[in-house]
Amino acid sequence: GFFRHLCMAEEVPVQSFVVRSDMGCGSTIGPTREQHIRREKATSNICTAQVLLAVMAGMYAVYHGPDGLRTIARRTHRYATILAEGLRASGAEVVHGAFFDTLTVKVPGKAAEIVADARERGVNLRRVDADHVSIACDETTTRAQIAAVWAAFGADADIEALDGSAADALPEALLRSDDILTHPVFHQHRSETAMLRYLRKLADRDYALDRGMIPLGSCTMKLNATAEMESITWPEFGALHPFAPAEQAQGFLTLIRELEERLAEVTGYDAVSIQPNAGSQGEFAGLLAVRAYHRANGDEQRTVCLIPSSAHGTNAASAVMAGMKVVVVKTADDGEVDIADLRAKIEQYRDELAVLMITYPSTHGVFEEHVADICGEVHDAGGQVYVDGANLNALVGLAKPGKFGGDVSHLNLHKTFCIPHGGGGPGVGPVGVRAHLAPYLPNHPLQPAAGPETGVGPISAAPWGSAGILPISWAYVRLMGGEGLKRATQVAVLAANYIAKRLEPHFPILYNGPAGLVAHECIVDLRPISKTTGVSIDDVAKRLIDYGFHSPTMSFPVAGTLMIEPTESEDLAELDRFCDTMIAIRAEIEKVASGEWSADDNPLTNAPHTAAALGGDWDHGYSREEAVFPSGVSAADKYWPPVRRIDGAFGDRNLVCSCPPLEEYDN
Ligand SMILES: *Cc1c(COP(=O)(O)O)cnc(C)c1O
Repeated sequence: GFFRHLCMAEEVPVQSFVVRSDMGCGSTIGPTREQHIRREKATSNICTAQVLLAVMAGMYAVYHGPDGLRTIARRTHRYATILAEGLRASGAEVVHGAFFDTLTVKVPGKAAEIVADARERGVNLRRVDADHVSIACDETTTRAQIAAVWAAFGADADIEALDGSAADALPEALLRSDDILTHPVFHQHRSETAMLRYLRKLADRDYALDRGMIPLGSCTMKLNATAEMESITWPEFGALHPFAPAEQAQGFLTLIRELEERLAEVTGYDAVSIQPNAGSQGEFAGLLAVRAYHRANGDEQRTVCLIPSSAHGTNAASAVMAGMKVVVVKTADDGEVDIADLRAKIEQYRDELAVLMITYPSTHGVFEEHVADICGEVHDAGGQVYVDGANLNALVGLAKPGKFGGDVSHLNLHKTFCIPHGGGGPGVGPVGVRAHLAPYLPNHPLQPAAGPETGVGPISAAPWGSAGILPISWAYVRLMGGEGLKRATQVAVLAANYIAKRLEPHFPILYNGPAGLVAHECIVDLRPISKTTGVSIDDVAKRLIDYGFHSPTMSFPVAGTLMIEPTESEDLAELDRFCDTMIAIRAEIEKVASGEWSADDNPLTNAPHTAAALGGDWDHGYSREEAVFPSGVSAADKYWPPVRRIDGAFGDRNLVCSCPPLEEYDN
């Protein structure tokens, strides 16, 4: 249940979490995600956060409560003290008198031997240096493990006896005496049945992919198949420590190598690192590689990063974090990069040009015709080309960024390659590069096998990043095969074009490629309709909830529009349900326009309607049925939103940072 998509169709206070999802995956999570990405003040480019993991930790506290957590902590400490006493009794020197769960033991000249002996006995200890070994206990530690560690140190003690005699090693002054976790939720769910029902209750408020389509453009919310997901719960994958000795992780390392090889093949690059934990982190890693490459060529001054104004907000933030200067390139009326402006900027910054970051297909959902020329002109000026690969769902099997001019790209395994996201990660943002940038990929000081010796250092804490979820993408690629992946892309593009064509008679579609086609997503332009009818984009997004849909991405990359990405996972019936709904909403807008419904009291302005809203007096100019069972919505299958509309602007000011327009990054 934890791996459900945690986007909610409305802002839903779930205890202390507030989850919003009406602004695209870039803004799925409210206060917990960071997007402080104003150029000079950039502190982070994190978009895909680690919220899912925070939810899991939160639920651990909900289940155990303060007493349970204290018991767990005491037990952990008890094991550490007994372990320490046994070691001391046999003459070893425990370095610290006060500790919680971790001991450092002084064993002059014998650390390697002891660590090797313990490994033979099935326990990995940490060799601090030639003379010191470090050992950590936790709530999963067993008596047999304690005995094995003693044996590795040549100690022999009696656990029962020590349990009676060993004193705590926690300084009295450091012990907490105030109450913790006082909220009732940490006291209510003590049985497995109660906990299960609590989780179920929260999940029922959620609008997840197991309920219907989540057409968030640029987010690629596709099926996370059970067969792909299952293996991450196996202890062989899930219980491996990120710093376990490599010889114990051969299976995992094989899986990582195979996945990197396949991603290299899919993208046309020469080398791939799966270390970055999000697309944004892949961008950061890729731009560091570009910087290192220029430096190695003596081009220290090449720090200008050109970014089209339609780019995702993380692009500019990553550039700033990599020490670059952002210069924004205009977008032409047809949604493509403004070639004249790009040429002018290339000319203006010829000697300082480090890199152009473009998204392909663009966030406007079109395949830019001139992409190869654009890449060529940047190369001629001595710059590198970063192709943001978050939209790879429109390319896999059809075109390779490493072949049409890109030097470096990140992918989002949590978009294109089936890892669940939307609740804010965890993500994997592999970075792929052509051979000349390969020496500058991420590496890791504690794990030489994790990257090139000449690399730029670690991008993530763990040598292979979010390795625990890689089996999902590995399984996807293996299950689909080359032909299957290509077919998925074709179906995704077809589905987007189907929606565009069905909606076109009712709403303007903002950008089409030269053949009148879109790529894998389409932008419905509500601005002219809003202007003449007063019905806002918010009204349409919220009304979709009454019909049982998650809103598409709102106002990105163009304010006042909806960006729809159906993916290959939605079948024709669901695509039609969505199109029928949008067309029905268009007819509702007409009723407002014609005055049949009042402009300030109609199902659109009042959407979404909760079950609670139906009680008591009904003093609206439309019926209860029109509110909650509009055409196509059956009473039996109705999705009931848990909360009504709340003040988004207030929420933005007080809880959520919304993306500033790209122009604000310009100098
Ligand atoms: C999602 C996305 C990103 C950022 O990826 P995260 O994994 O969320 O950091 C960058 N660029 C584009 C076009 C995206 O859609």
